[in-house]
Amino acid sequence: MTFTLPPLPYESTALDPVISARTLEFHHGKHHQTYVTNLNNLIKDTELADQSLEAIIQQVAGDASKAGVFNNAAQVWNHTFFWNSLTPKGGGKPGGKLLSLIERDLGGLEKFAEDFKQAAISQFGSGWAWLVVDNGKLAITKTANADLPLTKQQTALLTIDVWEHAYYLDYQNRRADFVQAFLDKLINWEFAEANLDQAGL
Ligand code: MN
Repeated sequence: MTFTLPPLPYESTALDPVISARTLEFHHGKHHQTYVTNLNNLIKDTELADQSLEAIIQQVAGDASKAGVFNNAAQVWNHTFFWNSLTPKGGGKPGGKLLSLIERDLGGLEKFAEDFKQAAISQFGSGWAWLVVDNGKLAITKTANADLPLTKQQTALLTIDVWEHAYYLDYQNRRADFVQAFLDKLINWEFAEANLDQAGL
């Protein structure tokens, strides 16, 4: 099996000016594409070649000799998940079920926004901030580089990419402004709710 770059779920201009078309075209068309190309080259003619992306990630996680496969496979997964965590009609409030879980587990929507922003800002260097289900409860986490909830028995609901390539053209060093704009204008609660259903909550 050869992996292909999934198309963005919206036009490249759809998130402007929060995320410019130029950023999306580089981030999706160059960065995400490169992870797909690298992964295909690394697994070609190996026992991993006919496996799903998730199966590959789980098999090579923690194996230092397969770090290149892990990094590229996880980044393919992370980016596809990130594009879906954004929507031009984002922001606002989640639906009742997710909102009540945020109140139960995370201290309410305002506290969620504050803590999610803090996780995203405090990730030193490249990485990701996440809303996940961990042991039946919502949690906010952050991961470095390509790491992801799948390797920690957690179900991802939402993510933000805080690698510099995600925001540098539009925000330069102002990661906090990028994260705030994501929360205010792009966060895709419907996607999180669909993932919550899959997690059986
Ligand atoms: Mn990225």
